[in-house]
Amino acid sequence: MNMRTSRRILGTAAAAVCGAVLLHAELKYLKPGFNFFSPEQDIKLGQEAAAQVMKTQPVVNNKEVVDYLTLLGKKLQKSPRAGTFPFSYHLIYDKNINAFALPGGPIFINSATILAADNEAQLVGVLAHEMSHVALRHGTHEASKQNLIALPAALAGAMFGGTMLGSLAQYGLGFGANSLILKFSRDAEAQADYNGAEMMADAGYNPLEMAHFFEKLEANGGKMAPQFLSDHPNPGNRVKAVEEELQQMPQRDYNANTGEFPHIKDVVSRIPPPGNYKGAPAQGAAPSSQQAPVARPDATLTSFSSNSYSLEYPSNWQVYGDQQSGAVTVAPGSGLVKGSDGATSVGYGMIASFYGADTGNVNLRTGTQQLIQQLQKENPQMTVAKAARPIRVGGQEGLETVLYSHSPYPNEAREVDLLVTTVRPQGMLYLVFVTPGSEYDQVQSVYQRIIGSITFP
Ligand SMILES: [Zn+2]
Repeated sequence: MNMRTSRRILGTAAAAVCGAVLLHAELKYLKPGFNFFSPEQDIKLGQEAAAQVMKTQPVVNNKEVVDYLTLLGKKLQKSPRAGTFPFSYHLIYDKNINAFALPGGPIFINSATILAADNEAQLVGVLAHEMSHVALRHGTHEASKQNLIALPAALAGAMFGGTMLGSLAQYGLGFGANSLILKFSRDAEAQADYNGAEMMADAGYNPLEMAHFFEKLEANGGKMAPQFLSDHPNPGNRVKAVEEELQQMPQRDYNANTGEFPHIKDVVSRIPPPGNYKGAPAQGAAPSSQQAPVARPDATLTSFSSNSYSLEYPSNWQVYGDQQSGAVTVAPGSGLVKGSDGATSVGYGMIASFYGADTGNVNLRTGTQQLIQQLQKENPQMTVAKAARPIRVGGQEGLETVLYSHSPYPNEAREVDLLVTTVRPQGMLYLVFVTPGSEYDQVQSVYQRIIGSITFP
């Protein structure tokens, strides 16, 4: 608050001396650097990479928080400096402070970043900085700079089928330690700060808050946010750079604050962690074998709608993944198990997605067979315990198959996977109810209610 006032006084004094027109002229209008990718290829690459993130990271579909991030992002998108990429905003459950932007628009914010911000303007600053990396196409620019010979040919090759990520992984476009699309140069950082500051001011937020937040993360040798600072290295004296830039800007009121930030911070602080399953919680008394584990689906259901189907799910579970396409995981926090490789698997919960989406005209029985073979390929211990039997799904023909596999929970002898399939225009819709073997009998009725709740638009 005090910052803003002093900045405005300075800005006014400078304007009186130089005249407003000249001041505008001194502001740089940053443009993307040279790039082998077309903007459309940025978008395609970013979408593929985002799908990967959805599969391997605990992306939390908390509507309230995602709507809030989207609201802030949309305010920033109105700035001409935001460019025209189709931005989308996502929340990742992670105790490490970080944020990243994928080429072409997907923005991911770790929950810890929201908790570390002191106010809405600081969070807006992170968004504006990340969106600037997208608008200025830093990820694909960096990859282009470092692969001058090979990349043009590889990009041409990538046009003929296959995924861009697959074709271009060797050029630092994957998610490994050397990923170029996530690690930026100090020049790119300075540009993202500069452009982001303008976006913030256009949207009615004090750009100094962005610089202050980054300074906060850098305090004490950067112990607070090592990953963020490795991906976004300090270009040097961020506060001073933004202060100088502010002096070139026209005087503005920074009054865009929605007032929602403290509430959202509270919501984020209460999102359950995707931690390891520890069995029944010992709630004071000695745990009895009757006690429901924390993950067991609540009998109270709540509704979920995608573009392709709707259903009800247990109110104590969360929806993760791509809500629009309907490829989602619905699970309690303790149902997601993080492996030693960092990838998250579902130990207790439900997965819904489409299979054979590209082939069209799927036959229910053979499609289900192929899907089971595919699942067995990924999971060699999986066996069919009860062969497919006909059921009704959303008023049409479906199949229900019971599979056994290995549970990621060490105290479980096996996992029961109830597979439900039905054919839709988008391909075969399948649901897998993943359940620790010892829990399966208790949750049958809830699963049947979920299956019974499925409707199609
Ligand atoms: Zn950055």
